[in-house]
Amino acid sequence: MTANNGSASPGAEDPRFEDRDIAGTTDNPIPHLDGNAAAGPLWELFRIDIIAAIGRCKNCGAVRVFGEAAVYSDAPGIVVRCSSCGGVLLRLVETPTKFWLDVSGLSYLQIDREG
Ligand SMILES: [Zn+2]
Repeated sequence: MTANNGSASPGAEDPRFEDRDIAGTTDNPIPHLDGNAAAGPLWELFRIDIIAAIGRCKNCGAVRVFGEAAVYSDAPGIVVRCSSCGGVLLRLVETPTKFWLDVSGLSYLQIDREG
């Protein structure tokens, strides 16, 4: 007689990729662009010119022109980071049917009205 009393593999989860910082390190920085790289998708979404907009970083409080932010477009979607502290300001992911926009890293965004 054989019995299988819980000897099967429990399928432990692999924590290899836990919360890795996509900003890389000073020795191995991940290449990034400036805020202009996020202008196209955000224009498509809101019809606003984001480059001249002024945003406040929720993490460090820096108030800067969006065009100065660091844009990582090789992430899943686009990640925009504060050029002062590296905190994530905005994330934008496009799927065939939806935009997913996370602006939780911004306290506010001040956008010029047209003419
Ligand atoms: Zn910041």
